[in-house]
Amino acid sequence: MLDRLFRSQGPNVDLHCHSVVSDGTLAPTDIVERAHRNGVHVLALTDHDEVGGLADAQARAEAIGLRFVPGVEVSVTWGGETIHIVGLRIDYRDPELLAGLERTRTGRDGRAQEIAASLAAAGIPDAYEGALRYAGNPELISRSHFARYIVETGTCETVDEVFRRFLVEGKPGFVPHRWAKLPDAVGWIRAAGGVAVMAHPGRYRLSDLCMDEMLREFVDAGGQGIEVVSGSHTPDQYCEYAAVAQRFGLAASRGSDFHGPGESRHDLGSLPPLPKSLTPVWHDWPEVAALERR
Ligand code: AMP
Ligand code: MN
Ligand code: MN
Ligand code: MN
Repeated sequence: MLDRLFRSQGPNVDLHCHSVVSDGTLAPTDIVERAHRNGVHVLALTDHDEVGGLADAQARAEAIGLRFVPGVEVSVTWGGETIHIVGLRIDYRDPELLAGLERTRTGRDGRAQEIAASLAAAGIPDAYEGALRYAGNPELISRSHFARYIVETGTCETVDEVFRRFLVEGKPGFVPHRWAKLPDAVGWIRAAGGVAVMAHPGRYRLSDLCMDEMLREFVDAGGQGIEVVSGSHTPDQYCEYAAVAQRFGLAASRGSDFHGPGESRHDLGSLPPLPKSLTPVWHDWPEVAALERR
């Protein structure tokens, strides 16, 4: 049913999700199989600052006949705010990209120890060890792993509740961090032959003026796309960022930002299609054109 619905509106393309290689809860191969079962025709795996799951995911996708797009989601600091840039159709063996991602990952462990110290002072001890147990990749310990541990302790009932009471600015467990620079992240993605896409712009706490300045810098650095239909957006924000995409001449992307069953509001491939007025980021991708001709 889901499959037929999206067929009538073009292929079901999901270009944003996570595996245990970053802060998702499923293995890369399980992500691919779940996407296939959900009727996704084209899938990108976009782990945070890591490409370690792409080879396995690509091999499984080829075996089951799902079109796979190698991706990554790079953490960036711009104007004191954390911004995420998705890279799509990257050559994940490119040395410049790999070196950039490695540098972006290096601060995570020290930050995790500071997060744990702050949580201990707020009455939640042993959070570093606790979070590490949830991290499939010790180089990629993230706030999501702390959130799962805090739920385990019984302090909060859900990960959402953790992110309201802890780990965000002004709350215990928040540690400011400097990620990659915006032009560097876009440069690594472009150097690896990829398309740089602004992830979930609706999540950033930037004034309209700052958002425009940030997007202008993104375009000037070589950014080409923006997520419009995202698991991190409300339906109102689909419209808001459709207008932004047009205003900046950016191609539009669609991605669930799925992290795992029971944790994400939107499953792989379950979001509405892009508004017809937009140019999809995949408009010139041969793997999608082949599907549309069928
Ligand atoms: P980090 O890269 O360690 O700062 O962790 C960021 C990750 O935390 C994001 O990619 C999300 O998966 C998760 N996250 C951030 N804010 C929230 C929130 N309000 N609710 C649920 N998950 C969140
Ligand atoms: Mn995440
Ligand atoms: Mn993100
Ligand atoms: Mn994401």
